[in-house]
Amino acid sequence: MKDIQTIRQIREQVSKWRNDGEQIGFVPTMGALHEGHLSLVRLAQERSSKSVASIYVNPAQFAPNEDFETYPRPLDEDLEKLEQLGVDAVYMPSSEEMYPDGFATHVHVDRLSDGLCSLSRPHFFDGVALVVSKLLLQVLPDLAVFGEKDYQQLMIIRQMVKDLNIPVTIVGGPTQREADGLAMSSRNAYLSTSERAVAGKLNVILKEAALKIENLQDVSQTVSGAISQLTQAGFSEVDYFEFRDSQTLSPQERNESGGRLLAAAKLGRTRLIDNWPVREPKLQ
Ligand code: AMP
Repeated sequence: MKDIQTIRQIREQVSKWRNDGEQIGFVPTMGALHEGHLSLVRLAQERSSKSVASIYVNPAQFAPNEDFETYPRPLDEDLEKLEQLGVDAVYMPSSEEMYPDGFATHVHVDRLSDGLCSLSRPHFFDGVALVVSKLLLQVLPDLAVFGEKDYQQLMIIRQMVKDLNIPVTIVGGPTQREADGLAMSSRNAYLSTSERAVAGKLNVILKEAALKIENLQDVSQTVSGAISQLTQAGFSEVDYFEFRDSQTLSPQERNESGGRLLAAAKLGRTRLIDNWPVREPKLQ
């Protein structure tokens, strides 16, 4: 596995591969790799002949009160996992490389960035859009894989790539889960034992609500019922629990042609997010 730290080197490596007729698949991450990340790497490897993963904890997507400093960085373990999967190159740019003195550009995707995760993290998606556009333009892969677990993020990246004409195919990878349904996340490491016992309920309650909406039960009643269930289960705060169009993410009051149920809730200091598809209504 090649260990690459600069824009010049990654460009040289990728263009050499491309000249040799290889297809390059890319998986951007912030490290603290778990099975969710690794599943995306496997997907990139299935669909391309060379794979690149990046590890970069992007300061631009953390607010000053968030966990940038304490975000887990188990670098040796991460590199071993990537090596074992047979990743061809790991790209780990420094912050000087990413945001040199004088850096002045912002990337904002309208509409899709409104609401949901932006409610509690208003600067988050601008930070993500900026770093992802930079990484894609640095690596210039044929395809890049992102997790459906971060559904709003995936939709924003698809829109951004289309609007900015970045020549890459975006592939969505399914959410990998623990046995009780909890979506894998690097931040699950923050959960205490008692919080971990409750955490899987987020997915259970999402799935039940999705089924109710599929069966044409009232959306707002289903959503308020789910929010009370989460609170009763022990979640300290529900940031949002919403039924949205699965492409435009516009709020849906009724299930006309399916959609996506998206939720974020806090357990102590840990914020969990998840989402679940809602199929078109079944005619009774
Ligand atoms: P992160 O390191 O958290 O920024 O995530 C890097 C990539 O992994 C993003 O595309 C995430 O959506 C994806 N990802 C995170 N958790 C999961 C999961 N449980 N299943 C699938 N993909 C995931």
